[in-house]
Amino acid sequence: MTDARLIDGKAFAAEVRGRIAVEVAGLARDHGLVPGLAVVLVGEDPASQVYVRSKGVQTREAGMASFEHRLPADTDAATLHALVTRLNADPMVHGILVQLPLPDHLDAQQVIALIDPDKDVDGLHVVNAGRLAAGLPALVPCTPLGCMMLLEHELGADLSGRRALVLGRSSLVGRPVAQLLVHANATVTIAHSRTRDLAEECRRADILVAAIGRPQMIPGDWIRPGAVVIDVGINRVDAGEGKTRLVGDVDFASAVKVAGAITPVPGGVGPMTIACLLQNTLTAARRQAGLA
Ligand code: NDP
Repeated sequence: MTDARLIDGKAFAAEVRGRIAVEVAGLARDHGLVPGLAVVLVGEDPASQVYVRSKGVQTREAGMASFEHRLPADTDAATLHALVTRLNADPMVHGILVQLPLPDHLDAQQVIALIDPDKDVDGLHVVNAGRLAAGLPALVPCTPLGCMMLLEHELGADLSGRRALVLGRSSLVGRPVAQLLVHANATVTIAHSRTRDLAEECRRADILVAAIGRPQMIPGDWIRPGAVVIDVGINRVDAGEGKTRLVGDVDFASAVKVAGAITPVPGGVGPMTIACLLQNTLTAARRQAGLA
């Protein structure tokens, strides 16, 4: 049996960003509209700082306006809430993203609830979650959107007749992915930490989306031959000699021998997340300007 096709998220994300840049240039030319994304970072979490920096760079590269708000770790809730309220009212800002996790003394749900749902480009506000669940137009969380773009690229937009298993039920990844798969007509099962026979559930799936945060937990012999595997997991493991490396939730070395197509980690779903953030910002700007 030949190895699975690699789904190159890095190359595909670059294509998506290129297409977005063309659309952004068209909006500026035809309507004088420059989509703006505000990112709020509280504290000095090193991983968050890296994400926020790349978000800023890629936003500007796409021709959009990037507004970064960096607040000290001891910022109180009232100050953060006042900033979000100000951004809600700012006509230059079409998308607002509050980088998570927040320091322990701040309640993420409370902050997300304050974001205008039309500017909620992370898709985490209950209004957007509800709209997605109801099959209405919504701002959809970026990583699930990225998973669906990769699947659509691989299999086409209509997944009728395909069995999909989503591993994980978080509101950030598992649940929205499952809903998007249902909207694409797949037959969907959601598995989680209380699922009894995970191996059997996996073996039935034509499409496997793994989002559990458990390094290399899914071995190749749980995968149905020819299945399309989307590995969302990002786990840092010891690589010896004091170094670390990133691995997914799927054991890539054995899975690549069985699957029909598979995303690598890194370079699979990860790069799609920021591309989809830009897509959501563009969508939000168009809707707010009455152009969608
Ligand atoms: P959460 O911790 O919020 O959710 C994990 C889910 O996996 C839960 O539903 C949990 O079940 C389930 N789970 C945990 N252990 C097991 C197990 N042993 N067997 C079956 N199910 C299990 O994680 P997230 O959804 O936020 O993230 C998942 C992974 O995706 C992480 O590795 C994260 O780093 C990565 N990620 C990657 C992104 C990207 O850009 N590529 C973006 C966001 C996340 P239960 O509900 O029962 O507890």
